Amino acid sequence: MPRATILWLAAFGCGGLPNPGSRQSAPTEASTATVRNALVIAADTLRRDRMSAYGAPRPTTPRFDARDPVRLHSAFATSNWTLPTTSSMLTGALPETAGVTLAANDPLDTTAALKVASAVPAFRDLGFRTALFSGNPGLWRVAGLEEGFETFELLYDLPTGNSKEIVDAALSWIDAGDANAPFFLWLQPFDVHFPYLPPAEVSGAFRDPATLPFDVTEQAQRTAIEADFANLDETGQAAIRSGLLDLYDEELLYLDQQVDRLLIALEERGLLSETVVVWTADHGELFDDGGTTFFFHGVSLRPGVNRIPMLVLDPAPDPWRGDGLFSGTDLLPTLFDRLALPPPSFPEGVVFGADPGRTRSYAFDAVGAGWGEAIPAGAAWTDGTHKVLVACETGDAVGYDLRTDPDELAGFDPNQRAETALLLTELAALLPSLHPEGCLP
Ligand SMILES: [Zn+2]
Repeated sequence: MPRATILWLAAFGCGGLPNPGSRQSAPTEASTATVRNALVIAADTLRRDRMSAYGAPRPTTPRFDARDPVRLHSAFATSNWTLPTTSSMLTGALPETAGVTLAANDPLDTTAALKVASAVPAFRDLGFRTALFSGNPGLWRVAGLEEGFETFELLYDLPTGNSKEIVDAALSWIDAGDANAPFFLWLQPFDVHFPYLPPAEVSGAFRDPATLPFDVTEQAQRTAIEADFANLDETGQAAIRSGLLDLYDEELLYLDQQVDRLLIALEERGLLSETVVVWTADHGELFDDGGTTFFFHGVSLRPGVNRIPMLVLDPAPDPWRGDGLFSGTDLLPTLFDRLALPPPSFPEGVVFGADPGRTRSYAFDAVGAGWGEAIPAGAAWTDGTHKVLVACETGDAVGYDLRTDPDELAGFDPNQRAETALLLTELAALLPSLHPEGCLP
């Protein structure tokens, strides 16, 4: 694969990318409709292309599909693991601006604090009830993420399939509060996060577990991935890969059932018709994508982990239509706009669709174990049709044409094409401001 050995980081110095800043679009007719509440389902580790809503051949999300959601097709996470991406979504800031990168937050034993304010207190100050229920207990490691939530509940001891408990907790919270107050409700179910252990209700839906090449236990799956996989031939690797995906899909099916249970409950309470519902993810998951032998997440910015679903149910859905880029930073700005609320300041997030020509998604591979194409940890930048990846330590860069190569298997020298050369220039201008001492910690 051709790669550009680049000197551009030095060449471009500390120039800054024009900051799109935060701004408000003029209220549209739809944004004045009587939508009062926002429900965000930020499923942890949900891979977009496993959802039938995004064309997966298996009916993994049949109940949500039946509600005919708006589908955003160019939605990107700002990183590849939970803490930076969730911080981006709640602050409208890139991970570095929010202060949540590997440098600030060793995934094993340290904590970070948000450097910018969460937008959630603005909901509270406008009279909203606010709650977060997360099946990923790790959110406590970012001080400030809890700001503005009247209830911030991290569910421990539920390794998988915990959307049932999350939905139960959410409904109890809804019923316990002032029915006249609008709400901002954030759910982060952990079902499809490793280990892939489908609950009994869906076990066998896509695969007889007796035919799997490993036991349905965390230890057996870990051994299959971390010990066995690299030593197997292509047939053996395919068997492990497909077995893991079968279980992953069954957990997604369960999540779809639980999301539907919540939506039915909102309907019964007369709330769904005045609620905008967003089903997205903090990031995806890898299953040896492109023959990389990468599994899990936090190790790459390949599309399996970097592209996220953005499915929206909205009584007046027009503001969500269009093919524009959507970054995790844009979620809260767009919800404030949709609910016709005065927004707080968002460092980098913009309202979806307000300025598609300048919207850019940025992602930083904070953990870094390579791109899978001999490109080590670094940063990614996309305009939705093209993408560039840059290795921070070496300066190597690679470009992709997402229109003809959505799986990013045919990388090329980004200086060879005008589109990727422009992205490279923009990224070179941006990185020094975010990483003044180099883009790796
Ligand atoms: Zn996550």
